[in-house]
Amino acid sequence: ALRTAPLRARAEIDLAALRANVRTLRALAPGAALMAVVKSDGYGHGAVPCARAAVAAGATWLGTATPEEALALRAADGLDDVRIMCWLWTPGGPWREAVEARLDVSVSGMWALREAVAAAREAGAPARVHLKADTGLGRNGCQPGDDWADLVGEALRAEREGLVTITGLWSHFACADEPGHPSIDAQLGQFREMVAYAEQRGARPEVRHIANSPATLTRPDSHLDLVRTGIAIYGISPSPELGSPADFGLRPVMTLAASVALVKRVPGGHGVSYGHRYITPGATTLGLIPVGYADGIPRHASSAGPVLVNGKWRTVAGRIAMDQFVVDLGGEEPAPGTEAVLFGPGDRGEPTAEDWAQAAGTIAYEIVTRIGTRVPRVYV
Ligand code: PLP
Repeated sequence: ALRTAPLRARAEIDLAALRANVRTLRALAPGAALMAVVKSDGYGHGAVPCARAAVAAGATWLGTATPEEALALRAADGLDDVRIMCWLWTPGGPWREAVEARLDVSVSGMWALREAVAAAREAGAPARVHLKADTGLGRNGCQPGDDWADLVGEALRAEREGLVTITGLWSHFACADEPGHPSIDAQLGQFREMVAYAEQRGARPEVRHIANSPATLTRPDSHLDLVRTGIAIYGISPSPELGSPADFGLRPVMTLAASVALVKRVPGGHGVSYGHRYITPGATTLGLIPVGYADGIPRHASSAGPVLVNGKWRTVAGRIAMDQFVVDLGGEEPAPGTEAVLFGPGDRGEPTAEDWAQAAGTIAYEIVTRIGTRVPRVYV
């Protein structure tokens, strides 16, 4: 049961579970600093409360995608001293604000280095840069070879002028959630070579880092100086093939519940929701659950998503609409206002975010991250 009284809907965020997850991950990677990745509003859990909880449990870095997310964290009470890194830059971004806010910034290529250097001149302080190597993900970052050599050379020149500090060298895995995938060793080897090159040229980075949650959980040889853990701090396994959260000693942080808005009797043969994709097989009761795709409930989970009502799993009947969906209660008549749990840790009989991911044909990352702003987060 929820610890707090139900509203239309609420996402309970168990910060004690988040703190315990951070401690578990630190114990798994004892030689590395831990960066709590709190981009996209803390994967839907609320960036600032999750950041504070992670720091209280020993995270010494926070990570975001956009500089705006990082600046908002720096402005929040209690996050003035923690290191904050952001990595998704576009030309004309708030480089000067980032330097002034003492953010660590990723530099993925020459244009970014130039903008960081210009900002450092304006701010009168060096930019803290992490040079990004594309070791095989094929996304952001420098290619091995000339591309990397040019960026490293230029960054070292700027460092000698006092305009940047090369605080990090870093990369990101493509397939760390598939243990044994040959690209993992290949990327790690490529990263070691690119780091060695930069260090031979004179770079003295404080942190070298490549591990995300799956690598943190399964590849100790990838931990290096820092691990960037996102999904695992929220108590979700990076993939079901890797194991369940409990297999890693992790506990899901978010519970999503709604109040049953209406219960009514209908005859057999009754069409339910848009398109009548569900027809009642016989006389039954229907329950109205007042959340929909505007709240981030995936429409792809129509006729599939599970909900716990009065101790029983019920399945979405027909299409999920913008604000509501229906479940077939099989003749039971719970009182309106009864709690319907869409997902939670799973140990009170409720489905998990992973169950919804399977129902929708997606990953649990997307399920929690997309829960909309219309659903209040309640911190317990
Ligand atoms: N590092 C980078 C660059 C990322 O983009 C992400 C998230 O996608 C992470 C780390 C954290 O990944 P995960 O949530 O799998 O731990």
